[in-house]
Amino acid sequence: MPPAELKANEVDRQEEDARLAALEATGILDTPSEPSFDAITRLAAEYFRADTVLLGFADESRVWIKSYWGEPIRELPRSEPIFAMVLAEDGPVILPDLTKHPRFTGRRMMIRRLAAASLASVPVRSPEGRILGVLAILGGQPRRAMAVDELRMLESLAEMVASQLELRRLRKAFDKNAPRSALPVKNGKEAWPRKPDLRRALDQRQFVLYYQPEVELSTRRIVGLEALIRWKHPERGLIPPMDFIPLAEESGMILPIGDWGLTEACNQIQEWCHEDPRHRSLRVCVNLSARQFAREGLADHVEALLRRFGISSRQLGLEMTESSLIPNMHTALQVLSSLRRLGVSLLMDDFGTGYSSLSHLHSYPFDVLKIDRSFVGRITDGEQPLQIVRTIIELARVLGMSVVAEGIETHEQYKLLQRLGCRFGQGFLFARPMPAEATTQLLRLHGGLLPDSKPATVTAD
Ligand code: C2E
Ligand code: MG
Ligand code: MG
Repeated sequence: MPPAELKANEVDRQEEDARLAALEATGILDTPSEPSFDAITRLAAEYFRADTVLLGFADESRVWIKSYWGEPIRELPRSEPIFAMVLAEDGPVILPDLTKHPRFTGRRMMIRRLAAASLASVPVRSPEGRILGVLAILGGQPRRAMAVDELRMLESLAEMVASQLELRRLRKAFDKNAPRSALPVKNGKEAWPRKPDLRRALDQRQFVLYYQPEVELSTRRIVGLEALIRWKHPERGLIPPMDFIPLAEESGMILPIGDWGLTEACNQIQEWCHEDPRHRSLRVCVNLSARQFAREGLADHVEALLRRFGISSRQLGLEMTESSLIPNMHTALQVLSSLRRLGVSLLMDDFGTGYSSLSHLHSYPFDVLKIDRSFVGRITDGEQPLQIVRTIIELARVLGMSVVAEGIETHEQYKLLQRLGCRFGQGFLFARPMPAEATTQLLRLHGGLLPDSKPATVTAD
């Protein structure tokens, strides 16, 4: 073999080894099916009205199928054109009519039992650009050429797979290295509070809403406020939500408490708008918990509140976590869709802490993704947490959602988030949660712009 050729082979081998190592690092091979990936193949099947969609990753000998739509296929030979062609092209392969392709000349492409007449496949790449796998869409009949939008959609879906893989890889490593955060001090054995205490607190109007500004990072302009409940106990002082919300959820008291919170927030929005009509552009977000979704009347209730206080649906946002959606997936989807039709914003809270985030983002109509503060808090610690946040931001971009970073405490975190393309943020660096009157002051004081150098001084948490 001439030396030049030998060298080329060596380079190929090295490249292939690096590709296999990158695939290995994701730990994806031979894992059971996961809703996140199935959501992507389902989305592809629906969008392209495809008969079969395959998401496969190729090791030395095979294309292992992580997720399929239509024909159940688990594995294909590595030489299978759906992968081999993508690798050879180093990009998408779009063949609307396979029978016209010289490689198949008048035949359909046989993939196991499947006779395909059209193929569209795009590579799934590692962050360094190595091709790890393929997302392939197969049709039983020839189809028309793919429009630019369709190709973009296909590539976005492959990017989502890549983001999901990356998030999965980083989170695994991150979980392994991260110091274990302390478990909540309170546990079920605490004698206080009990359900009647919550009932009494509600009757005696001991709950209050604090508000924490959400800012546009580039301008430090306040774009919204998150309503956060506190219990002003006459003897015990100000009690944070984590000390009573779990009991409220367990005991069902969250329903009347939640109703109170929603009404109170709407009332406050109305007051701020009276104070200054420019405040109409602010979005006030209220946290909702699982039980509140189990009730189908939620959207009607919200609509009635908006009407009663004369506020626009754009002025209200509802935050929920993934775990609050899981107990009633079906009802939750209906409720969320009705809320979305109303025009209120839907925010996915604490993003990244759940384990099948992507599938929920796909299935539910969220507008905003809030990056959990555990990631933001470690973003300056090293490459890994930084990568997680980068990936989440990328994921949101692909899905057309906006991003709010929670828990920004330092200038360094602030600057880094901006550099990563995160548009909005919230955290002690800008302002702590504060009572309504202090919030009114803050809005008045700086015309909605937070001062640059120091954290806002009006704090009362
Ligand atoms: P969340 O919705 O993720 O709210 C953000 C939490 O992060 C708030 O805690 C806020 O005070 C805190 N935070 C904001 N910026 C920073 C920061 O820079 N550093 C740190 N260390 N923390 C920051 P809070 O008010 O204690 O609320 C905790 C959780 O309680 C909320 O998390 C939310 O899940 C729940 N919650 C609050 N209000 C309500 C409510 O009205 N209804 C329901 N169902 N849940 C509520
Ligand atoms: Mg929240
Ligand atoms: Mg949160």
